[in-house]
Amino acid sequence: MTETPLKLFNSLTRQLEEFQPIHAGEAPDFVAEARVYSCGPTVYNYQHIGNMRAYVFADTLGRVLQWKGYKLTHVINITDVGHLTSDADEGEDKMEKMAARENKSAWDIAKFYQEDFERDLARLNVQPKQHPRATEYVEAMIAWGQKIADKHCYELDSGLYFDVSTVDDYGRLARAVTDEGEGRIDTVEGKRNAADFAIWRKTPAGETRQMEWDSPWGKGAPGWHLECSVMGEALLGFPFDIHTGGIDHREIHHPNEIAQNQAYCCTNGLDDARNSGARIWMHNNFLVERSGKMSKSAGEFLRLQLLVDKGYHPLAYRLMCLQAHYRSELEFSWEGLQAATTRLKRMVMGLRQTQEARFGQAAGATVPPPPTRIDALRVKITHPKLRPLLDKFEAAILDDLNTSVALTALEEVIATKKVPVDQKADLALGMLWPLGLMVLTREDLRIRPADAQITEEEIDAELLRRKEARAAKDFATSDAIRESLAAKGVEVMDGDPLGWEWRL
Ligand code: AMP
Ligand code: ZN
Repeated sequence: MTETPLKLFNSLTRQLEEFQPIHAGEAPDFVAEARVYSCGPTVYNYQHIGNMRAYVFADTLGRVLQWKGYKLTHVINITDVGHLTSDADEGEDKMEKMAARENKSAWDIAKFYQEDFERDLARLNVQPKQHPRATEYVEAMIAWGQKIADKHCYELDSGLYFDVSTVDDYGRLARAVTDEGEGRIDTVEGKRNAADFAIWRKTPAGETRQMEWDSPWGKGAPGWHLECSVMGEALLGFPFDIHTGGIDHREIHHPNEIAQNQAYCCTNGLDDARNSGARIWMHNNFLVERSGKMSKSAGEFLRLQLLVDKGYHPLAYRLMCLQAHYRSELEFSWEGLQAATTRLKRMVMGLRQTQEARFGQAAGATVPPPPTRIDALRVKITHPKLRPLLDKFEAAILDDLNTSVALTALEEVIATKKVPVDQKADLALGMLWPLGLMVLTREDLRIRPADAQITEEEIDAELLRRKEARAAKDFATSDAIRESLAAKGVEVMDGDPLGWEWRL
């Protein structure tokens, strides 16, 4: 069979494109590279699970690139300066605002929320990536500004601004006219075009900012869009392969990054996508709440930690993300998360049996699958019942990351009977790895809220007593135990096909 190409949807050209690596690979291994930049969080607050959807998507993309055989370099930057409360040039700096509210330094705020972010990434089984901080690149940002200032920028009292009419095809990436898009209300006086944006924001006279630097345009701080251009170029080199971000970035942040990159590289025109700084631009759609947009201020703040406190495993959330295509909006609900948990349990039960048959492993430990590659799987998986499932998985995952179909192929493998157990186990793990899932344990997946009053040992002891009572046909005692557990919030699940006997 001929090799299936990896096809990805490029927001810039608005079509599916075959991935062609820019760096073909060098001696000694000649392995082609994939260089990816994903816009990271502004670390002024916790990330909500909507933000985390962006990184589950980016990580799945990174894993699939490796599964396909590319050597991956993947950056997720940390925005610790410059992002205003609006994506356009209005409002206050998010970092400084939070620092004032919490009575801490902006640097402490950044450190705290970056650490929290990295903890969430690890819990979602996101592979380690490079996390450069914007504040480490301010000098490089100033140098960049100096290079493009003459031809592309103009100075106002408030800072140095980029004139978007100086590059060809400004805004080609953007799709919607949003509140903040073309029609946005502009409060910066003197801008030549409404879409012009700050490269450098001067500290207003008489004020001091916690985060400010000297520059040729006065004391101040860099504009938010500049950091991604600078860090992308510094760490991956222009043009690199893929740039990702949430769909909101398609409208302002990425068009502005692209304009800066065009100015910097002295090339115009986006008919050749490489002039944008990257060959492919990809955007994940939003996770939304039934009530509308997910937010950090209104109602229940949906952090990963809240899911964990309610007893859900983070990978159930990852699975929930994978069930939808990354370009589709996904609605979050607790019922949906519960359904994803049940699905994950079923997979895990099947996988554990396969694992035990293959390796004679005792149930208990969580098994992260080893990294796998499609070419190795193609050699190993020959059985006529399994091979078509590998083909199905491959076709789906390489078709712009159709993870929902890929998941069904994995489930079909798990359900396949009378096949060599080594091939079955290798194939299942070989599918689990690019999806970023693991063979968890039953205990991992038991729904047990953090504030539960009763211990697992107590529950198990009670259940054993109940079993004995039932065996002795003492249904009165058995029912009484059931009721007393119910009073403590434990639901006994008789005949649970998964063998999970209770949940809180
Ligand atoms: P921010 O910290 O606001 O810069 O956002 C971090 C990342 O999360 C960006 O790539 C955003 O586009 C993305 N993002 C923000 N909200 C959501 C959401 N509700 N669903 C998916 N991605 C989001
Ligand atoms: Zn960015």
